Amino acid sequence: MTADPSEELYSSLHRRFKGDLLRPGNEGYEDARAIWNGMVARTPGLIARCADVSDVQTAIRAASENGILAAIRCGGHSLAGFSTCDGGLVIDLARMRDVTVDPDARRARFAGGCLLGSIDTATQKAGLVFPSGVVSHTGASGLILGGGTGWLTRRFGLSCDNVEGFTLVTADGSVVRANSKENADLFWALRGGGGNFGVVTEFEVKLHPLTSVVLAEGLTPEADIRRLLEFWRDFMAEAPMDLKWNIDLRLAAHTEKVPVELRGRPVAGNSLVWTGAPEAGRPYLQRALSICSPNSVRSNTVSFMNLQTMADSDFPHGRRYYTKSGYFTYLDDTTIDRMVEAVATIPSSHTQIELAYLGGAAGQVGAEETAFGDRSAPFIMNLLASWTDASDDAGNISWVRGLFKKLRPAMKPGVYVNFMSGDEQDRVPEAYHERWDRMVVVKSHYDPNNFFRLNQNVPPRKLAAKRE
Ligand SMILES: Cc1cc2nc3c(=O)[nH]c(=O)nc-3n(C[C@H](O)[C@H](O)[C@H](O)COP(=O)(O)OP(=O)(O)OC[C@H]3O[C@@H](n4cnc5c(N)ncnc54)[C@H](O)[C@@H]3O)c2cc1C
Repeated sequence: MTADPSEELYSSLHRRFKGDLLRPGNEGYEDARAIWNGMVARTPGLIARCADVSDVQTAIRAASENGILAAIRCGGHSLAGFSTCDGGLVIDLARMRDVTVDPDARRARFAGGCLLGSIDTATQKAGLVFPSGVVSHTGASGLILGGGTGWLTRRFGLSCDNVEGFTLVTADGSVVRANSKENADLFWALRGGGGNFGVVTEFEVKLHPLTSVVLAEGLTPEADIRRLLEFWRDFMAEAPMDLKWNIDLRLAAHTEKVPVELRGRPVAGNSLVWTGAPEAGRPYLQRALSICSPNSVRSNTVSFMNLQTMADSDFPHGRRYYTKSGYFTYLDDTTIDRMVEAVATIPSSHTQIELAYLGGAAGQVGAEETAFGDRSAPFIMNLLASWTDASDDAGNISWVRGLFKKLRPAMKPGVYVNFMSGDEQDRVPEAYHERWDRMVVVKSHYDPNNFFRLNQNVPPRKLAAKRE
C-alpha cells in the first residue's frame, strides 16, 4: 500500500516549518479550508499557513519533490476556486500581511497575503491610495496579478499598472525579483498573467494622494434602462478620467433605502465616483443621475475608507457564485436590448449584470506593455450570479450561460482572467491572445513542469507539446 502523499509531505515539513500546518481533523482546519465561493468545497490534504518567505520556499520544494498538487491562496476570492484543491497542498499566505508605507516617496511594500483592506488602512494613514478593487476582503495578490480594476482605475490605472516590483518564490524554490531592470520579461508577465509564475511574497507599488471622493448613487426604473444604457455608452466615451460610473442591472432590494415602487423590480443601480474637486464634478453627476428615480438619488463626499468598504456585505463569504465575463468595444442596440430583456428573468435577487467602462489612465497603457494586454475595448461586463441554496445551482448557472451565449457575438475576443469561472480553461488562450506565445516563453523558463497550474493556466512549452 502506498503511503498517503500528504502525510509524507507533512512529515517532511513539520520540523522546519515555522507557520501552521493543518490537516483534516485538526482544530481550525474546517475554517481554513473554506474559500469565498461556497460552490467550491474541497478537502486539501494539508494547509501550510506560511509565516515568512522561507516557509513558502520550504513548502514549494517539499510539494515539488513529492509530486503534490499545490494551490496558492491569498484572500481565497478566486471565483473559479483555484485557491484550494482535493488531497493536495494549500500554500496559504494569510499570516503574511505586513504593509510598509514611505509617505515621502509615495511608495509602499506589502506582503503576498494582504487583503485590500489592510493596504487601504495603512496607506490612508499617510493620505495616500493604491488603486485596487471595490471589496475590502478581496485578496490583493490574486487581484493585482490578474490586473485589478476598481473605483480609481480611470484616474490612476489598473492595480498592476501601479506595481514597480515583485519578489516571488519560483517553482524551484528560488527567490527572484522582477522589475523594469531585473527579469523584465517576468515583470511584464506578472502584470496580468495571474499565478502562473510563482508565489509573490512582496509587491512594491506607487501610491497617489487621495482621502475622499464624491459618491453619487441612484436607481433607474425598468422602463428607462434602455435609454440609460444608450446615454451611458455615449457619455463615457467623452467623460473626464475623474469620473467612474458603474451600472448593475438587477432586482432592487426590499430595503428602506429603495423607493417602495421599485422594491423587487428590475432596475439599473448607478454608482458614480468623482475623484476631482467636488464642484467640478457636479454637472457630470447631475446629468448622469437625470435618468434615475429622483427619490432614489444620493450624492455625498465620502472618505476613501468608506468607499472601499461600502460593498463588503453585498458579497459575503460562503454564498454560491458563478460568473462569465467579456469586453465590448461598443454597446450596440441589440446588446442593450438583450441585457434589458435578461434583467426581467434574473433568477436570484443577488444576481447582477455588472457593467463598467475602463478607459482613462488604464486605457493609456500600451497593449504590449503588460500581459494584461489590449485595453481598447472599454466596456467590461461581468454576469455575476449569486444565490444561497444548492438546489438553485442549475437555474442560476443556466441563466448566466444562456445570456452569455446571446451576447457573445457582439463581444471583442478576450476576457479578464479574474472574472472567469472554473469551467473556462478553454478561454485562457483567448484571454492572452496576441500575448500567448510570449506568456508561454516566460512560463517555460520559470515553471517548466507547470508546478503552478491551479490558475488560468498557460502550459509550459514541453507540456503543451506533449498534449498535441
Ligand atoms: C467579492 C469580490 C470582489 C471582487 N472585486 C474585484 C474588483 O473590484 N476588481 C477586480 O479586478 N477583481 C475583483 N474581484 C476578482 C478578484 O480579482 C479575483 O477573485 C482574485 O483572484 C482575488 O484574489 P485573491 O488573492 O483573493 O484570490 P485567491 O483565491 O487567494 O487566489 C486566486 C489565485 O491567485 C493566485 N495567487 C494568489 N495569491 C498569490 C500570490 N501571492 N502569488 C502568486 N499567485 C497568487 C493563484 O493562482 C490563486 O489560485 C473580486 C472578487 C470577489 C470575490
